[in-house]
Amino acid sequence: MTRGLSVVDPTQWASNCKGVRDYHDPPTHYIDIHYRCNACGQQAVFSATEQKHTYEVRKQHINRRRTLCPACNGEHYRLRLRDREMQRRWLAERATLRHDRVFVEEWLLVLVAAARYRRGVNLGMIKRLRKLL
Ligand SMILES: [Zn+2]
Repeated sequence: MTRGLSVVDPTQWASNCKGVRDYHDPPTHYIDIHYRCNACGQQAVFSATEQKHTYEVRKQHINRRRTLCPACNGEHYRLRLRDREMQRRWLAERATLRHDRVFVEEWLLVLVAAARYRRGVNLGMIKRLRKLL
């Protein structure tokens, strides 16, 4: 397998990266990073091109690393969107929704599924929803 390389331009990094060690003595190139997905254990690659895009276009912090493979990351993203939507409904209609078994069960499934990708998140809400069933 050939290793991908992409030229580093630290002037494009997010402004909150100026304090990191690499800012003043940056590497010349991004190099493909091979890692194992924290959720499913599959091997994945954070390619040099993706790194350049992530840090220089999307302005994510330079110390940010990937922990999920693309498939798990996509599923986690979908679950987070659904969770946010349900939180919004909950804030507006809590009095009715707390008696809506379908809503409570679905939200619980979403939170439990999301916890597979990021441990320890929303445990308080999971407990509260379980009490409602
Ligand atoms: Zn995965």
